[in-house]
Amino acid sequence: MVSDTVRSAPRFMHLPTFMRAPFIDDRSEFDIAMVGVPYDGAVTNRPGARHGPREVRSASSMIRAIHPVTRLNPFELSRIGDAGDVPFENLYDIAAVHEEIETFFRAMGDDGLMSLAIGGDHSVTLPILRALSKDGPLGFIQVDAHTDTWDSFMGSGLSHGAPFRRAVEEGLIDPTRTVQIGIRGAQNSMEGWEFSEEMGMRVLFMDEFTRIGPEAAAKEARNIVGDGPTYLSFDIDCLDPAFAPGTGTPEVGGLTSVEALTLLRELRGIRFLGADVVEVSPPFDPTGITALAGATMAYELLCLLSDESSKKGA
Ligand code: MN
Ligand code: MN
Repeated sequence: MVSDTVRSAPRFMHLPTFMRAPFIDDRSEFDIAMVGVPYDGAVTNRPGARHGPREVRSASSMIRAIHPVTRLNPFELSRIGDAGDVPFENLYDIAAVHEEIETFFRAMGDDGLMSLAIGGDHSVTLPILRALSKDGPLGFIQVDAHTDTWDSFMGSGLSHGAPFRRAVEEGLIDPTRTVQIGIRGAQNSMEGWEFSEEMGMRVLFMDEFTRIGPEAAAKEARNIVGDGPTYLSFDIDCLDPAFAPGTGTPEVGGLTSVEALTLLRELRGIRFLGADVVEVSPPFDPTGITALAGATMAYELLCLLSDESSKKGA
């Protein structure tokens, strides 16, 4: 087990790795890697998510170890570290950036690590799915105000409004084992919603989520993804801007933070092989509330991954 002296120090001290986990030098000593993906070159509107990983790291100093409901301690159950940020050599060519992200996450998987990514705009999930789906299409749970299944924007099919259309086309996710939760906001065309529904994805719009609540939504998500390998992507804009104003495309009328925590907790036991929190944009987050929400959701995801990872190791 790696030394973990930083976690036992007062929370205002030392370099802010994610949740004050040790920095990963030797991958063979770890089970789960938290990885920053500081890229926002694919946004369609407000930028800033490239600063997400650094601010989430800082806010995540607030996170403690033992889960208040399950009493699970992911840091005892698994060897968890911070792998740093994906090192970019390109920034002005989205496809090249995506290749660099894919290469990094593929190497992580080859070394036997599960990954929890912190974005970054939502386009970064596409190359992560490319890296993780080598054994076939994955189940997919997306918590988001938007389906991100639009086709092209300003001449590019790689914007953060398009990753899950590409993921279906490339066979990275199984649309019939996909659920999109929290979808809302008026659109100028129905193209994205229609693509999702025509492909067989379950689109759980916010008005329905409000009626049925997070427990029923989680139950349905569990039925849809079944017991196959599944990836969870959490776009912070699923939360109401009252709870998460610091994001590129805020939509009023979203999940409360309590609803989101309940939803994630109810997903325990699904065969997750990776997860992410994306779209935290610190320049629009003057109080840091969005970064703290992102760090807290990341902790919930870490608990889900740790629970799965420890089953594998056993
Ligand atoms: Mn999104
Ligand atoms: Mn969104």
